[in-house]
Amino acid sequence: MAPRPVPLSAASRQTRRHFLGDFGKRSLAIAVLSPAVLAACGSDSSSSDGSASGNSESGSTTEPTSSTTTAATDDSGESEAPANEETGETGDGAATQELRWARAELDFVSAYVLARGNSAAIIDTGVSGSADAIGQSLADLGLNYSNVDHVVLTHHHGDHAGSIAAVMEQAVNATVYAGEADLDSISFDTITGLVGGEDIFGFEALATPGHTAGHMAVIDHEVGLLVAGDAIFTNGGAAAEGPERFFDDVELSRDSIREMAALSFNTLLVGHGDPIEGGADAVVAELADSL
Ligand SMILES: [Zn+2]
Repeated sequence: MAPRPVPLSAASRQTRRHFLGDFGKRSLAIAVLSPAVLAACGSDSSSSDGSASGNSESGSTTEPTSSTTTAATDDSGESEAPANEETGETGDGAATQELRWARAELDFVSAYVLARGNSAAIIDTGVSGSADAIGQSLADLGLNYSNVDHVVLTHHHGDHAGSIAAVMEQAVNATVYAGEADLDSISFDTITGLVGGEDIFGFEALATPGHTAGHMAVIDHEVGLLVAGDAIFTNGGAAAEGPERFFDDVELSRDSIREMAALSFNTLLVGHGDPIEGGADAVVAELADSL
């Protein structure tokens, strides 16, 4: 396995926690700082599932935490994820730079910051009041809101889209994306609709309907990292379905899980539950086989 280029910027040096510096040793990539709470989307009541109506209390009752990890283009173990040799040479373009990510734990839900070089993408924005915590995740990667070029909302629920307006007040350079079918339920005007297949920041947008009609996941096939939003939950190192009552269409969601299970990825990041790092596709396949 060829060593990947390690970012030498001050940004990466400031990434003090959970930096995966030893290539291929995926077991060292544990980025979790606190136990995840398996909670449903809009868990306090179904009425809180509406757009931009996040519970203002939930952002302050728990100290948000953030952790950072460098995604391994991992060729260890039995993973089928492609190696990174073709992009291993040094280059100036963001696409050739190592992917790092940080998790913002926002009470019962997580948002994520993905970074390549000095460019960042935010996946989901948490409940209302989460913008500062997401800003801390950017800072953990040595970045700030001016580095954010993309904001992807996996779906319209208030614990994922709740801080979109506050985030966009600071992420003035960013384009916002969400699934076309969810746009009407998000209280933000300038969103680029996704239907699946789009390329964002080197990630492919995946139409993963079921939890909501317009639910989107994103995957970097090269790195092998899937951000699944609420299309997959995790619990105790296993992949899981979320509580049925928060799903628009359970059967459609299962179809989406099966489609994701057929993909190759090492790392899985979800809205509710801890990340799974290393062999995550097999973990999702196990869930798919059980459905
Ligand atoms: Zn949800």
